[in-house]
Amino acid sequence: MDNNADKINKVRFGAHPHADMHCDSLLHGYRSGTDSIYTGMWNADGSPRSMQSISQMAEGGQLLQFFAVFFPEQDYIDGWTTPEEGHQKLHLPSDDIFFDTCVKWLHREVEQHSDVAALARNAAEVRTNYENGKISAVLTIEDGRFVNGDITRFAALKKIGVSAIALTWNHPNCLGWPNSDDPEIMNRSLTAFGQEAVAEMNRCRILIDVSHLNDGGFMDVARLSKAPFIASHSNCRAITSHRRNLTDEMIRIIADKGGVCGLNFCEDFVNPDSVMKDERAYTERYVQWKGKITEDVLKEAKEAFRRHDILPALPEDLAAHVLHMLNVGGEDVIAIGSDADGFDCISEINEPNKMSILFDVLQKKGLTSRQLDKFASGNVLRVMEEL
Ligand SMILES: [Zn+2]
Repeated sequence: MDNNADKINKVRFGAHPHADMHCDSLLHGYRSGTDSIYTGMWNADGSPRSMQSISQMAEGGQLLQFFAVFFPEQDYIDGWTTPEEGHQKLHLPSDDIFFDTCVKWLHREVEQHSDVAALARNAAEVRTNYENGKISAVLTIEDGRFVNGDITRFAALKKIGVSAIALTWNHPNCLGWPNSDDPEIMNRSLTAFGQEAVAEMNRCRILIDVSHLNDGGFMDVARLSKAPFIASHSNCRAITSHRRNLTDEMIRIIADKGGVCGLNFCEDFVNPDSVMKDERAYTERYVQWKGKITEDVLKEAKEAFRRHDILPALPEDLAAHVLHMLNVGGEDVIAIGSDADGFDCISEINEPNKMSILFDVLQKKGLTSRQLDKFASGNVLRVMEEL
């Protein structure tokens, strides 16, 4: 793959080069310690598998990717090993060392592909890179715990190129509370520091990302933020009733504020409730996935339904979320936040070069060329304009 990228020396962008507001590939870059992304997953031919790398972006003609430094807990990576001989257990260092290592890894990766890739912090830099035939890598953070209650760190992070920060991941932190099944936690406000942080992030021109945040925190951001904000990788709760997804009211608020919602490709957030909750619909999808209807497959489907095993998300399922966002929030709110390398993808669209499958479906469903352009990158560039 690297050899191919070396030969390209200019990216061939297609009709709708896309902007993607979230991936977790840096975690796997950290894990690999070397040039290629090691996810511990493998293709059928024995080659290592990742969903998102600089090479894959260049080959897929992708416009830009937000690379998030995501701060996991040790239990998130329990069982993970490094690619070195002997496959040693992976340990997490302090957040500071982890962050520095991830940033250095991204910089080195971009440097090594400098003929086709460059860093970017705002829309103007993305455009310059595009004109030079290069994809853009944008540094972001997932989990504001990294600032550790120190308001001065936002300005410092902006200085080193951080363009967006998700206030929380799935744990409480100095800024606020995460999405939760407990309605009391779900409706809590941002902390006093979190409220102060909204103003400071506005001042520093860092995009506020509400994906993973609880509903109460969302409403505080909506009330306090003077700048457009983003839900970098969240879908529609009206289609998939997951607490990580957005209600119609939230989609409308983000739209009114001039922000964007990024379509997440992780099956948990995409599969319609009807598929996951109704055994007949589940079995139909399972049979379609396996490509045959035999006694064995039907038995497997029954067991999988009982275990609530996840099923692939069809391009049509992804399109349904985009169309719902469009109907509820209008054409200026729709965007992409694939969550690549943040989940073990079993669906067809699992790489930058497969994005055209989704665009084709959206076109068939009636999206105009202008709407498709906005979805692919126009809306993300708009919010990056002020950075
Ligand atoms: Zn996430």
